[in-house]
Amino acid sequence: TSVLLETVGSRHDPPSPSLHAPSAPPAVAARGLTITDSEGRDYIDACGGAAVSCLGHGHRDVIAALHEQADTLAYAHTGFFTTEAAERLGDRLVADAPEGIGHAYLVSGGSEAVEAALKLARQYATERGEDGRRHVIARRQSYHGNTLGALATGGNEWRRAQFKPLLMETHHIAPCFAYREQREAESDADYAARAAGELETKIQELGPETVLAFVAEPVVGATAGAVPPVGDYFRRIQEICDRHGVLLVLDEVMCGMGRTGTLHACEQEGISPDLMTVAKGLGGGYQPIGAVLLSERIYDAISNGSGFFQHGHTYMGHPMAAAAALAVQEVIARDDLLANVREMGAHLRARLKETFGRHAHVGDVRGRGLFQAIELVADRETKDPFDPALKLHARIKAAAMERGLMVYPMGGTIDGARGDHVLLAPPFIVEREDIDRIVERLAEAVDAGLG
Ligand code: PMP
Repeated sequence: TSVLLETVGSRHDPPSPSLHAPSAPPAVAARGLTITDSEGRDYIDACGGAAVSCLGHGHRDVIAALHEQADTLAYAHTGFFTTEAAERLGDRLVADAPEGIGHAYLVSGGSEAVEAALKLARQYATERGEDGRRHVIARRQSYHGNTLGALATGGNEWRRAQFKPLLMETHHIAPCFAYREQREAESDADYAARAAGELETKIQELGPETVLAFVAEPVVGATAGAVPPVGDYFRRIQEICDRHGVLLVLDEVMCGMGRTGTLHACEQEGISPDLMTVAKGLGGGYQPIGAVLLSERIYDAISNGSGFFQHGHTYMGHPMAAAAALAVQEVIARDDLLANVREMGAHLRARLKETFGRHAHVGDVRGRGLFQAIELVADRETKDPFDPALKLHARIKAAAMERGLMVYPMGGTIDGARGDHVLLAPPFIVEREDIDRIVERLAEAVDAGLG
């Protein structure tokens, strides 16, 4: 299960229920696309860890920026000072943000960003005297983090089950997942309307004046494997939210910061959220960092109201993290790496289609940019998944590691996620030959995993 795939697997970890916990020796070095373990074996990082390493490893410009920041100012508590690095990063995030976003709130990771976004949404409602707005709606196949509020929001029941009662009662609707949910004769437009209609139905069921926010990943990441929306699904979602005064919260922790070929995945949907979370690729793995981007209207309601957002973590806005993120984002812009994401993304997709398009056990190849996945099925016609007890995704991961390839698999029949997926999210510096090698090794690993 993916909780274990995100676990390092050292003897210090809590007991793991999986038989497939990583067994590789510790990692000792990394450069570019390659991670080396203590026994001298190299692995191609074809998933950026968890869609984190967007510049690859050991990038000289980021290392130089980190050295300089460490030498100048390594830490200043935000209760006393902002810092130049944090201010410059905040300005940059706002300048590049979707329309309507006016402020950035720096935190230390994805879950923290989701927590802060949920609290900002709640405070926005209470500042406006709308205390009755407390229901959050999210989607069944979603992951929004592992802290209690974020866990309450995400749709994976198996992740949540042991921690009930959760902090908030979140309501889950079906995601926009064409491969699984679109009917045979249904057009994309009709399917988009039907999928978005689920939100309208849920809002009506709960009572529009009680609904606070709708939270969604524009391209679903860890739970279902790079599932992009169809047609005008998100424009319809935005219209429904606006009509009912429901805040639109987009979680771009995994799919954002260039991963899909535009800086923000929502740009491709032509929508602008009230709140947006980013992390992972923001700092590219060089430092833990995340951010909430918030619209002027949320900021104004709070600053003109109580004037104080009761939040804060010790390390938020850390200058080392901000300096790393700034350097990562500057390199992406300077080297026009988003063009490479689009070009290499198209090549990756083409190679995946070529290799797996007629494979008896690959039902779908999907994704955007350098965020692509294959879905494994027992039967291509019926789309039936494999028995989750097989842990096929974990077997493929292990087979890939044996072949010197890191991929990000997810799986099991989880809340309708139905099946095993393998996600690829290589660094933006990836080249054609790297992709060819990645797909070749993946093909071998899939066949070995299928036994
Ligand atoms: N939201 C999404 C969409 C994610 O993919 C993740 C991490 N997989 C998170 C939130 C949580 O981020 P973090 O692990 O940095 O807390």
